[in-house]
Amino acid sequence: MEGMEHCLSCNSTLKTGEKECWACSAVVAEKNPKTSLHARFQTVIKVLFIMFAVLTPLALVLPDGYVPSFKKCVVGLIVLGLARSSIQTMTETRKE
Ligand SMILES: [Zn+2]
Repeated sequence: MEGMEHCLSCNSTLKTGEKECWACSAVVAEKNPKTSLHARFQTVIKVLFIMFAVLTPLALVLPDGYVPSFKKCVVGLIVLGLARSSIQTMTETRKE
C-alpha cells in the first residue's frame, strides 16, 4: 500500500506525517526531499559501482570498443568506491 509507513522500532503502522509512534513513542524519521535525494544518489552510486565492477574484468578480455578501456574502468571503480564509502559514512553520521 502506498504511503503506509511503519515504525522502525516496533513496526506499528503509522499515519502519514506522524512525528511520533503511537505505540512506542519512538520518533518517526521525517521524510524530507534531502534524505530521499541522498538515498537516490546512494543507489545510483551503488549501481554504477556494480556496473564498473563487472566491466573491469570484461575490459581485459573484450576488444576495445565494446567496453571502456581497462584503465578507465579501474579509475571509475576507485572513484565510485571512494564516493560509496563517503556516502556510507555520511549515512551513518545521520543516524546518530
Ligand atoms: Zn513504534
